[in-house]
Amino acid sequence: TQLNVEDAALIARRNDALGPAYRLFYEQPLHLVRGEGVWLWDKDGKAYLDCYNNVASVGHCHPKVVNAITGQLGILNTHTRYLHDNVVNYAERLLATMPDALAHIMFACTGSEANDLALRIARSHTRRQGVIVTRLAYHGLTEAVSELSPSLGDFVDRGARVRLIPAPNALTVPPEEQGARLAADLAIAIAEMRQDGIEPAALIVDTLFSSDGLYPDPAGFLKPAVELIRAEGGIFIADEVQAGFARTGDQFWGFQRHDIIPDMVTMGKPMGNGFPVSGVAMRHDMVEEFGTKARYFNTFGGSPVAAAAGMAVLDVIEGEELQQNARSIGRVLKQGLQDIGTHRGGVADVRGAGMFLAMECVTDHDTNAPDARRAAHVVNHLRQNGVLISATGPGANILKIRPPLVMQQPDAERFLEAMDAAFATG
Ligand code: PMP
Repeated sequence: TQLNVEDAALIARRNDALGPAYRLFYEQPLHLVRGEGVWLWDKDGKAYLDCYNNVASVGHCHPKVVNAITGQLGILNTHTRYLHDNVVNYAERLLATMPDALAHIMFACTGSEANDLALRIARSHTRRQGVIVTRLAYHGLTEAVSELSPSLGDFVDRGARVRLIPAPNALTVPPEEQGARLAADLAIAIAEMRQDGIEPAALIVDTLFSSDGLYPDPAGFLKPAVELIRAEGGIFIADEVQAGFARTGDQFWGFQRHDIIPDMVTMGKPMGNGFPVSGVAMRHDMVEEFGTKARYFNTFGGSPVAAAAGMAVLDVIEGEELQQNARSIGRVLKQGLQDIGTHRGGVADVRGAGMFLAMECVTDHDTNAPDARRAAHVVNHLRQNGVLISATGPGANILKIRPPLVMQQPDAERFLEAMDAAFATG
């Protein structure tokens, strides 16, 4: 299929207007005009099964969320310096999903802002500067947190305060050694930091290691690293922007699979199902001094409309039992992907938790060399066939599958058929 004349013209205008820093997915970019549940439609009316969007987690344009947002927009939209019931109700409801030690939640608009705030609080609380992140982490786009986002590439100067540790590796490290390995690498990073006169303030990780290539297992492997950063006087921040809000099926938050209680938890993306709302939950002592000295005001963060969106998302997750659905349909997806891997070959690993799955394409089973060509073929074949996923990882060979949590059995079957057809042809 060829790029049509209108889309070509729109791409040219887009490049002119938005400049060179923007990217589009696919050689033949998608021009979407509508969404509902797990489905998206392009301007020619072609339907796509969305297996990639982890923002519209309760389904595209969920009527309950849309009505909550538009209803509140028509009544009142102010900021957090006026009293409003729902902002407090929402904060209490979110905190109820977490361990008691996480006593407060502060609101912002994006995951980047949430991590930026967590970083400020971590540095002011510990009176230290050093931060450790994984090698291909993404924690956001502000000047401060882009330093914590090595997946942005070498263009971003990390300075001396940020150190990288290898992410878990499902192909080279045996599961039972994953925890000790991560802690040992953390110990090295801390020692190197100290040689430069920098003390560790925080370890921050995406609890599913999403941009590193998705490493959910074995459950509990994060614990030794969390214990170590605390023993060394730093704190642990769980970035739940991707893992949170029932995505993993077994638990509501990603950190819960590791049997740990973070000092701070950041969240965003699915929190408002597309309405910009994010947050940082924290222990009281983290913010005690910051709260008295720094004050916090975020014009749009935690508005009554944001609270309405967030509340509706929680209602839908509970009412439609989406955590259970993520677990049960997630299992169907994982089993199906494993079968495709076994049947078609060239797949070194299928892993995942709930409705976040990854499939690692390799050129041969002896060397496990990344097969970026196959991964790209699968992504593009699926796109032509009306299914959306993407590929990630240092070798661009790890297929990333993250459907809205409302996906049902027939959608899962349709997805697996399309996957098998893609693997069969390239
Ligand atoms: N943390 C993680 C783990 C993310 O995946 C992202 C976004 N991809 C962010 C933070 C930043 O969120 P936002 O784009 O909303 O600023």
